[in-house]
Amino acid sequence: MPRVLVVEDDPDIARIVALLLARNNYQVDRASEGRAGLRAVYDSKPDLVVLDIGLPGMDGLSVLERVRDLSDVPVLLLSARDQESDKIRGLRAGADDYLTKPFTTGELLARVEALLRRARPAQWSERVYDDGSLKIDPLSRLVHVDDREVSLTPIEFRLLSMLTRNAGATLSTGQLLAEAWEDPTGIGAERVKFTVLRLRRKLGWDDSATSPIESVRGVGYRYRPPLRTRPRVESGISGRPGR
Ligand code: CA
Repeated sequence: MPRVLVVEDDPDIARIVALLLARNNYQVDRASEGRAGLRAVYDSKPDLVVLDIGLPGMDGLSVLERVRDLSDVPVLLLSARDQESDKIRGLRAGADDYLTKPFTTGELLARVEALLRRARPAQWSERVYDDGSLKIDPLSRLVHVDDREVSLTPIEFRLLSMLTRNAGATLSTGQLLAEAWEDPTGIGAERVKFTVLRLRRKLGWDDSATSPIESVRGVGYRYRPPLRTRPRVESGISGRPGR
């Protein structure tokens, strides 16, 4: 039974979210302020954290930054409508997805389920990817760049896997949202943008001019393996998009 930690100070929202998750067979822990939430992440080691941005004491973004120092647990941020800039800061700080209040219970459940599914390796990506610089082992979920191990969140891992499995092809933002976030609406392109920024930073490919993860203006992103090596992809995904 997956364990979800809900950190939310609004008692009505916290109760509804907890009830919804419990009814759908999640084990739910709750915290109503930032420090208690952070402690609960240490103590209960949840599979997913639903984290409100506006919390008394330590706010949600500070909690997120500390969580990211110690864990790659998927984090779904809850934000109010007037917290647009906080949402962007949250994505930059390592949130995997967000929901803007008010949201429906169906939306919340869909996001939670998608994030938890992404935390498990997808069936099509069970073979090791290795292009001489970047190595991805989907079963162990280990990623190495030039023999340096890199720790990724499930969404970051999923996005990188998609790009490398389709190396050379441009994947649209909509395709990446649909596959990695399981969000078919294509709305919220900034989630892709900031996850790519985090990926580049973690992989040591910050310089957008030379980064193997290229932005294709107005379309999406493309992975180009370093030129000095030849890609050794054992198998691509079926129905390769963007070709
Ligand atoms: Ca709040």
